[in-house]
Amino acid sequence: MCELDTEVGGTARSGKNDISAFPWGAHYLPAPLTPKGPVARLLRELGVMGGDGAFAEEALIREPDERLFYRGTWYEGLYLRAGASADDLAQLQRFDALMESLGAARDAKGRRAFAVPIADGSDDAEWTQLDRLSMAQWLDQQGFTSERLKWMVDYACRDDYGASAASTSAWAGVWYFTARLHHAGFLSWPDGNGRLIAELMKSVGAERLQRSTLVHTLERAEEGWRAHALAGPRRTPVSFTARQVVLACPRFVAARLIAEWRVAPPAFVSAFEYSPWVVANLSLKAAPGSRGFPLAWDNVLYGSKSLGYVVATHQRLRASDAGPTVFTWYYPLVGDDLRAERTRLLGTTRDDWEAVVRADLWPAHRDLDQVAERLDVMRWGHAMIRPSPGFVWGRERRAAAEALHGSLHFAHTDLSGLALFEEANHHGVRTAEAALRQLGRSVDSWL
Ligand SMILES: Cc1cc2nc3c(=O)[nH]c(=O)nc-3n(C[C@H](O)[C@H](O)[C@H](O)COP(=O)(O)OP(=O)(O)OC[C@H]3O[C@@H](n4cnc5c(N)ncnc54)[C@H](O)[C@@H]3O)c2cc1C
Repeated sequence: MCELDTEVGGTARSGKNDISAFPWGAHYLPAPLTPKGPVARLLRELGVMGGDGAFAEEALIREPDERLFYRGTWYEGLYLRAGASADDLAQLQRFDALMESLGAARDAKGRRAFAVPIADGSDDAEWTQLDRLSMAQWLDQQGFTSERLKWMVDYACRDDYGASAASTSAWAGVWYFTARLHHAGFLSWPDGNGRLIAELMKSVGAERLQRSTLVHTLERAEEGWRAHALAGPRRTPVSFTARQVVLACPRFVAARLIAEWRVAPPAFVSAFEYSPWVVANLSLKAAPGSRGFPLAWDNVLYGSKSLGYVVATHQRLRASDAGPTVFTWYYPLVGDDLRAERTRLLGTTRDDWEAVVRADLWPAHRDLDQVAERLDVMRWGHAMIRPSPGFVWGRERRAAAEALHGSLHFAHTDLSGLALFEEANHHGVRTAEAALRQLGRSVDSWL
């Protein structure tokens, strides 16, 4: 296994300081809806899910889980109920009822219209035609005009996809509100999904992982493939041969690695677009004071361009209310011109982001100046595949998942169009099983 970074985990990696571990990217996983499938199986192996389907208490996010800041006060939940009109509430109720019925919808083959992973759901045009619209257009079409509702939906698109409702496929937007309805809660750890990475690493074994090894070329060899890489701080050239290869990097990287694609890039590559993100970890010697609903796991600011922050120490019983902690703050760059967004991001410094974090969080807390100790910032240039209208059910995404010459298998969340742990896991298991079959091993599929 080759990993270019010094740390494993990619966009699910985490960090640690004297106060706590904290995420640098992915930070939660909704509890799986059924005990079937590879995610549930993995969670059982890791001891996060018991044989009875119950989840480990330390991983299942306790209350209060969500709060929203609006005009000087924090409120419970992520929908702004304070000051909502009768029409706002009626629209929310209609939206919830619609999602409830779409969540329960099944196609003629009995598959859920919107399922996780998406490969288990319906591919019938009845539902996939939603992919042609944006989520904002779909809301308009359905007659939803409530600003609060639209803000909540836009927030959801930015949170899960790094794109505004106007740039997110309506299919993906509806998927967010339906595929995981009525899950038993959110699973998270101080290090976010970094915990899942650490557990997976234990079973792989550190000796099988080559860190700091950047694969730059994959070419066909007599019996399969030869990978050329630069290893370690001196960038020493190394190479490996393998009969079967799983390439678990995004398409824009694969297009540069595969020698034959450099000469003739497949048409699908340009359809894959990635949203840039910024993540900041704010270390505090004590949790700051705030007015209204108490500190929750997920703390969101109504009307902000950021997604707010999650609290790394939330699961330490009540300690998060007072003791030292780390806030992980998220900011997706949602502009339509992704190249311009990435250029903008590249031109920013840590201090620029400190100014943004201050403007965002300081007004929502009384005493951040007294308790803030340090701020660390991560810029993610290609953080997440963006499910723009037409992408999830377009030809390109599906063509990109096909193995090359039967022996180079592709895994990565970009092949789903949704950057989520369940999708990464699906492609990992799918490709591992395909490679084993090609090697002549019998496979009792997990899928
Ligand atoms: C800020 C942020 C927040 C997120 N929050 C959540 C969340 O809360 N829940 C959730 O489910 N998902 C979340 N995600 C999505 C997360 O990306 C996925 O869940 C998942 O971790 C992605 O895994 P992946 O395998 O697709 O790829 P990646 O994370 O992209 O990993 C690809 C790996 O390949 C390595 N690599 C690339 N090129 C090379 C090369 N040439 N040679 C060697 N190695 C190479 C990279 O270093 C990296 O480790 C978040 C993502 C971001 C950016």
